[in-house]
Amino acid sequence: MNRSIYSGPVFQMARRQFERVADHVQIPEMERDRLLYPKRAIAVSCPIHRDDGRTEVYQGYRVQHHLTLGPTKGGTRFAPSVDVGEVAALAIWMSWKCALAGLPYGGAKGGITVDPYALSPRELEALSRRYMQEMIPFVGPHTDVMAPDMGTNEQVMAWFMDTYSMYRGQTINEIVTGKPVSAGGTLGRREATGRGVAYLVSRALDRLGILAGGATAIIQGFGNVGSVTAYSLAERGIKILGVSDHTAAYYDPAGLDVAKLQGHVAISGQLAGFSAQSLIDPSELLAQKCDVLVPAAVEQVITGENASELKCRILAEGANGPTTPEADSILHQRGDEIFVLPDILCNAGGVVVSYFEWVQDLQRLFWEEAEVFDRLYKILERSYQQMMARAKRDRISHRMAAMAIGVDVVQSAKRTRGLFP
Ligand code: GLU
Repeated sequence: MNRSIYSGPVFQMARRQFERVADHVQIPEMERDRLLYPKRAIAVSCPIHRDDGRTEVYQGYRVQHHLTLGPTKGGTRFAPSVDVGEVAALAIWMSWKCALAGLPYGGAKGGITVDPYALSPRELEALSRRYMQEMIPFVGPHTDVMAPDMGTNEQVMAWFMDTYSMYRGQTINEIVTGKPVSAGGTLGRREATGRGVAYLVSRALDRLGILAGGATAIIQGFGNVGSVTAYSLAERGIKILGVSDHTAAYYDPAGLDVAKLQGHVAISGQLAGFSAQSLIDPSELLAQKCDVLVPAAVEQVITGENASELKCRILAEGANGPTTPEADSILHQRGDEIFVLPDILCNAGGVVVSYFEWVQDLQRLFWEEAEVFDRLYKILERSYQQMMARAKRDRISHRMAAMAIGVDVVQSAKRTRGLFP
């Protein structure tokens, strides 16, 4: 494509990753743009009344990557960094993620350029509702199904669902996933991403012959994904040496108490203020020695600059896009074989259980929590096995293998359906 509206470092990263995979699986040049470029991008202006009486307008986006396999699916991010390039990259990654997990979805992502922590609860509700209202013509249970991402949570999903339902004149739970259980959500969705990360980490530990009992982990990010991952790893006997969020980083070679960290965050909303003794410079956290390193915050934190300094055995990507292509090349060349659990596999637990929530909402038949996790682990295990087999067969990295499987699925569906008209 000669010119497009998508730009910026995160979009360039998604494009470069795709190019590497397309070269590997030998996708003809003329088919590449059709696979990579999003089908639709919607930009909306969302005005709200601020508490001080001003009217403020926030920019919102939704990018729907492809519609070939079913509705599009993906989270909604409220963050100051949000722009159409970042949202498009995240939508593209959702496509490969859903395809790898075998879900009948294309990828989507949405967001608002806003610092949600700078809004009052009333302002946050007004903005969430206005965003969904602006999106009504473009989403639907069989068109595009939203979910949480950075800066949004179950409450925001409940407001989305309520706004859409009020407009339609009936309750339509299946418009959004990641809702509270009391609003048609599924048991297990809140913990799904973190528990999925912990499941895959334990598979990687088994593979490397490391006992969970003696293993150590560091987690960057202490939102929904980071905190549940920390808790689930600790539950499996792994010692949590370090954690961080955007306000503070802590490191203690004797291990941190995850329940206490969670208790502190539940009260103060952030890690800052937890302990003065174990504070560490956040930029040093990723380079500490540990068995399992989990970036569970934002994109592009493992880069050409710091990839050679990592001292972990397993890199478990809880975040989307934490490792740049430059870092990937360095990790590959290092030769000490850091076992990478790439984002589109590692954090897929969230969208897999979102899929279960959508299915349950459509059927009005709700499952026990044990069934949710049993089915989740089966899907993650299958995807993990497929990735390992492909990496071995083609002698490629885990990321390349996972992406190749995802891209293959989308490409073959497009080929089979043909080009309309
Ligand atoms: N935002 C999450 C992700 O990046 C979840 C998406 C979903 O549940 O649809 O995978």
